[in-house]
Amino acid sequence: MLVDSHCHLDFADFAEERDLIVQRALDNGIERLVTICTRVRRFDSIIAIAERYDSVYASVGTHPNNAHEELDITTDDLIRLARHPKVVAIGEAGLDYHYDYAPPEAQVQGFRTHIAASRITSLPLVIHARNADEDMIAILREETGKGAFPFILHCFSSGPELARVGVELGGYVSFSGILTFKNSPEIREIARNVPRDRLLVETDAPYLAPTPHRGKRNEPSFVRHTAAVLADTIGVNQDEVAQITTDNAFRLFTKMSRPANA
Ligand SMILES: [Zn+2]
Ligand SMILES: [Zn+2]
Repeated sequence: MLVDSHCHLDFADFAEERDLIVQRALDNGIERLVTICTRVRRFDSIIAIAERYDSVYASVGTHPNNAHEELDITTDDLIRLARHPKVVAIGEAGLDYHYDYAPPEAQVQGFRTHIAASRITSLPLVIHARNADEDMIAILREETGKGAFPFILHCFSSGPELARVGVELGGYVSFSGILTFKNSPEIREIARNVPRDRLLVETDAPYLAPTPHRGKRNEPSFVRHTAAVLADTIGVNQDEVAQITTDNAFRLFTKMSRPANA
């Protein structure tokens, strides 16, 4: 089996055929999906999806691009919502300097609110980092210095130094379809250097469909293409990469139930 550690099943792209997509994932051995919250104000619709399917779990948090819209959400709010049995992570939060949807100060403030919730709940923080390596490294160092918290550098597309520091601070690194793109040799090089017990795979669906579906709508069943490239990249076979990334996912997402046969 495989775990899609990051997808967005609440997005309108899936509205018509969510049942089919979750079933297609199961048919392809993707027995656990984590659907990631990007707006706490939409949490109700996200948790409703997690409640509908045994294989789907959820997170709670505000995407950095929406940070300025949800600065009223407190650490206590996140902790309260995270008590739901199907919430297995905090986020996604972080820094996105590629888009300027939210002012950097708002992103930093929101990020720290989420870090505090992760530290208190011990639930992993799903970190979104784009074009923000320097600030991300500084904040991770400073905040882990105040007290460790589990985290994932999701959809990894940053530089080798952020990966190295993330691992050093106890974090996991999750690879998306970007790993399969011809023009991403530097991301594969980074994956080779991440310790095996810190590797995860994800789709970030509906975005970033892996080769051979690049440019189309992504969906959780496609995570197997990313896992196949990760296997080649680190020099293991398909079964081994499934075992490695699945073991890592269940070690990290402590509230996620493991199927008896997996
Ligand atoms: Zn993201
Ligand atoms: Zn995402």
